[in-house]
Amino acid sequence: CGIVGYVGNNSSLDVLMGGLGRLEYRGYDSAGVAIITESGELVTRKRAGKLAVLAADLEASALTDGRTGIGHTRWATHGGPTDVNAHPHLSADGRIALIHNGIIENFAGLRDELLADGYTFESETDTEVAAKLLGREYLEGEGGLAAALGRVVARLEGAFTLLALHQDEPGVVVGARRNSPLVIGLGDGENFLGSDVAAFIEHTRRAMEIGQDQIVTITPDSVSVTDFAGNGVEAHEYEVSWDA
Ligand code: GLU
Repeated sequence: CGIVGYVGNNSSLDVLMGGLGRLEYRGYDSAGVAIITESGELVTRKRAGKLAVLAADLEASALTDGRTGIGHTRWATHGGPTDVNAHPHLSADGRIALIHNGIIENFAGLRDELLADGYTFESETDTEVAAKLLGREYLEGEGGLAAALGRVVARLEGAFTLLALHQDEPGVVVGARRNSPLVIGLGDGENFLGSDVAAFIEHTRRAMEIGQDQIVTITPDSVSVTDFAGNGVEAHEYEVSWDA
């Protein structure tokens, strides 16, 4: 339901939890984060319930922070509001974390294809299918995470905003959208993604729209937008004139 992504030099956990807090007004039943820690490890924490439950979990586990991360608040559509069904969901090798707003209409057929290929699933969500597919595309195809995401979303039907990160690509967050919103926040040595500008308004008012059926890649000092096939597209920058 709410989505935040961050790459930069600050604490990703602070940015993610702050952004998710600002998106709370939309309603949700679970929350989770994935970050790449300073030592280069991908870690996730996800809990059913309010953000405060996740915050307490993060505090209790004294998670090492990092500078790349994604955060999600979930409004369950496929599978009940449980810790396991909460996002992020992982690729089979555990090196990719993915979050999703919306509904993947053709998830059942894709899940059958992956089951036949030997994949197993932990959750009842439509989202986990995209995470497993992304892991397979990353390993079998070329061009890294953004190119793999382009090949995955070309196969999805329905409405989705997806964000993902890979342990082997620290400092990179990729996103894609169809029939569901995603906005870029432009910072100085840091960049943001959000399901709406509330996700990053505390940090920057410079924003960029991402069009229908487009992929975005952010690093601390670059932003690139393409179509699903990887062809570059022009993105328009604007100033958020919204009183936060
Ligand atoms: N369909 C996904 C799920 O149930 C995402 C729901 C959402 O938009 O939060 O997990």
